[in-house]
Amino acid sequence: MNVLVLNSGSSSLKFQVIATDLDRIKQHRDARLCRGEVERIGGEAIVTFQKGNEVRQKFTAPLRDISATLDYLVRYMVSDRSGMTEIQSPADVHAVGHRVVHGGELFTESATITDKVLQGIEDCIDLAPLHNPNNIKCILAARELFGKAIPQVAVFDTAFHHSIPEQAYLYALPYHLYRRHRIRRYGFHGTSHRYVAYRYRTLRELTREQTHIVTLHLGNGCSAAAIRAGYSVDTSMGMTPLEGLAMGTRSGDIDPAIVNLIATKEGLSTPEVETLLNTQSGLLGISGLTNDMRVLQAELKEHDDRRVRLAIEVFCYRARKYIGAFLACMGGADAIVFTGGIGENSPEIRARICDALQWAGLTVDNEKNQQMVGMEGKISTEGSSLLAYVIPTDEELLIARDTVRCILGEPHPS
Ligand code: ADP
Repeated sequence: MNVLVLNSGSSSLKFQVIATDLDRIKQHRDARLCRGEVERIGGEAIVTFQKGNEVRQKFTAPLRDISATLDYLVRYMVSDRSGMTEIQSPADVHAVGHRVVHGGELFTESATITDKVLQGIEDCIDLAPLHNPNNIKCILAARELFGKAIPQVAVFDTAFHHSIPEQAYLYALPYHLYRRHRIRRYGFHGTSHRYVAYRYRTLRELTREQTHIVTLHLGNGCSAAAIRAGYSVDTSMGMTPLEGLAMGTRSGDIDPAIVNLIATKEGLSTPEVETLLNTQSGLLGISGLTNDMRVLQAELKEHDDRRVRLAIEVFCYRARKYIGAFLACMGGADAIVFTGGIGENSPEIRARICDALQWAGLTVDNEKNQQMVGMEGKISTEGSSLLAYVIPTDEELLIARDTVRCILGEPHPS
């Protein structure tokens, strides 16, 4: 089954086509036929397209909206230009899997998209006004392009965290605010945390019940999850992805009284302060330079800039603080798992985060840590009682697999 996986943003669309079915899932033989991204939709869009593992192609096309983008992409795939033999016509796309940001309390697992499910995603717009409308537009565009006969599945960023208990998801606010407006912590990056937890237990040949880990997704957005007996029991992101770790451009945890203070002192409206916390804070805000960890690390090496150093220190300190908190909350864990662009590729950041965790039984093996860049494996020493792993995430693969399992009515446990 060829599954088109779509992840739509406000002016961008990430896509992959993955060939998979129940047998391939079992044998871990899913095949990635192509992947890419369209940026700056609404004007002269930039398209990146990679067939299999071949060289990436980059070109521009005037694309006014998501509907035009999807139409363009599928026409490109079936044309000779893409070089794809598996997709000769739109009918060779057998199913579509969508990353949907917010499933609220309605969706505790992936769901085949019906009118009722679409209504449910719409009902969650209040919780994710910036994200869910894009996902809905993308679902409707795919429905128009492929027709209702091609099944579509929604895979929710929040779903994996549905198992978080009340004591962890409730804010200490007047309870009626939760009852009236569903103000609580939901958590995000669920597909990523779920995927690396599944890979971890596969690598170590453990059952789900034996999986006790803290996962750290460190990309542009960053979050930690406490996973006990294979289920998420706490996570650092909250009602929105703004809470928790210091991120590329997001502040993570702050004293909520600061919002009013910034608004008053800087003459900003509350939505403007929220935008500042989402887009001008984190690594970018502290360093005053960039949200790109690679650039910050290079800058630190070359110039030892004080604010660049501070940005990296705050980033690592906050991550370590959450690890400590989650270890306490879940009564200890067997391993810390790093994923995301920074977690997968930066031995220095991993070492800094783990540096002061010797009290918890974790010592990083320097050589293994240096080697483990963009690949899967253990980075803690043999003597460590708390292990550390690097596991590259693959949200698209999990979305494709869930799509197949939903359509075939199979349970989707991993
Ligand atoms: P997103 O959350 O947008 O999916 P990614 O998971 O791709 O982002 O992570 C992006 C971050 O990963 C950026 O800060 C980037 O600098 C960082 N990154 C990627 N490669 C490296 C590397 N080799 N060393 C340090 N940081 C890296």
